[in-house]
Amino acid sequence: ADYKTEVHNDWCPGCGDFGIVSAIQMALAEMEVPRHKAAVFSGVGCSGKTSHYLNVYGVHTLHGRVLPFAQGAKLANPEMTIVAVGGDGDGLGIGAGHFVAAGRRNVDMTYLIFNNGVYGLTKGQASPTLKLGLKTKSLPEPNVNQSVNPIALAIASGFTFVARGYAYDVRQLKDLIIAAVKHRGLSFLDVLQPCPTYNDINTRDWFSGMDNIDEMTNKPRPRIYKLEDTGYDPVVHIDSPAEENEKLTQALIKSNEWDAKIPTGIFYKNDIAASYDERMAERIPNYLENPPAYQEISSGGRSITDISKMLDVLEV
Ligand code: SF4
Repeated sequence: ADYKTEVHNDWCPGCGDFGIVSAIQMALAEMEVPRHKAAVFSGVGCSGKTSHYLNVYGVHTLHGRVLPFAQGAKLANPEMTIVAVGGDGDGLGIGAGHFVAAGRRNVDMTYLIFNNGVYGLTKGQASPTLKLGLKTKSLPEPNVNQSVNPIALAIASGFTFVARGYAYDVRQLKDLIIAAVKHRGLSFLDVLQPCPTYNDINTRDWFSGMDNIDEMTNKPRPRIYKLEDTGYDPVVHIDSPAEENEKLTQALIKSNEWDAKIPTGIFYKNDIAASYDERMAERIPNYLENPPAYQEISSGGRSITDISKMLDVLEV
């Protein structure tokens, strides 16, 4: 299937968003997800346009509210492959409460944050992931706030799959998206996405170490590296608090690496924890066979939803 749309793309030349959209398209194609079985929800910001460029169901939602929309769609129709996308400002500023609440629920879906450290759509103000003291070209003064660590926040919030990709490594990102979608539970991908228009510090050259040449070898010292190349094992293998604690702790330690060395790949993966959908199916036995999306709610223009039990409860 062709997952590209004909919609004119107006991202700036060289924007990392292009690589992310390509990776999503490649992942959907490799998994052979039928177009009518996939939906992409986007927040507000440059990344919000993503849902316009993917030829699957899509909803461009409200600022900071992409997770409630996406979780609702998944719970209404558990057969759908749901991918939510948004910027770091959208997800970790105005949407931070939803981020934490979603982690606690563990609905079976995937959330990508396009992390560039700035509010690009509104001309480059400091976003929640810009490091304290950095002065990008559109800031009059250095950033005065501490930054949020998205990986650490996801781990602390209960996301059961936490990973980081890089917008210019499309192949690795595609593989991470596939792993995230296949994960049973809520998966989070922090995607480092250079914004060449407004973030002149965390640039492509900065990530690849072109500004940091080794005097001995005359080669760049790349900041980005892959956890899998170091023998790092992110998986919770057995259902034991000690094992879970060990894997959470090593992920938190790794999440604090930045500047000289920046890990990418999977930090934490727990397939043993029950997803929200599974907990719901235990509580409502026929939930998965007859989810809300398949239920008749009207006939001849009139609602046939039976709310009498609810009204009985409210009766005084
Ligand atoms: Fe991309 Fe930055 Fe341009 Fe937005 S402002 S489209 S994030 S380069």
